[in-house]
Amino acid sequence: CGRAAAAPGVGSTGSGRGPADSVLQKYLQQLWDTVLLVALILCTGVIIQARWQHQDRQPNDNFQVLEPRTDVLRSMSLLKTRPYRQPKRWCGPSPPTDADICAVCLEAFRNNQCLRVLPCLHEYHRDCVDPWLLLQHTCPLCKRSILDAFYSDKSRS
Ligand SMILES: [Zn+2]
Ligand SMILES: [Zn+2]
Repeated sequence: CGRAAAAPGVGSTGSGRGPADSVLQKYLQQLWDTVLLVALILCTGVIIQARWQHQDRQPNDNFQVLEPRTDVLRSMSLLKTRPYRQPKRWCGPSPPTDADICAVCLEAFRNNQCLRVLPCLHEYHRDCVDPWLLLQHTCPLCKRSILDAFYSDKSRS
C-alpha cells in the first residue's frame, strides 16, 4: 500500500517510547490503512454504480429522442417525390432560377433527379433533404414543419 508516510498527529511523538509503542503504532497504522482502503473501495464502488445508472439512463433518453422520429419517418413517407423535368423553355446557358436550385447543396436540379416536394411546395434533392428532415423535420427555407403539415392535413380531412 502506498501509505508509508504517517498521518499527521499519529506518528510524531512515538519515536522514543520503546518497542511496545512502536508495535502498537504499526498496528494502528495498518488498521488506518485498511480503513482507508475499505473507504476507497466503497467510494469507487459508489462512483462505478453511479456511472452505471447514468449509462442506464442514457439509452432511455435516446429512446425518447427516437420516439418522434417514427412520426418524422411516417410524415416523410407521405411527402411527395417527383423526378425533375427540365423545362423546355429553359435552353442555353442561362442561369437557373431559384426554384430550380436545391437550397441544401446549392446545385441546380438536373433532369430525372429525384426531388422531395415538401408540404410548403419547396423542392430539394431527395438525397439532400431527407437526412435534414430526419433531424430537423422542418423546411430548410421556410422552417415549416413537415409534422405540422401532416397533422393539420389529417385533422382537416
Ligand atoms: Zn441538393
Ligand atoms: Zn418551405
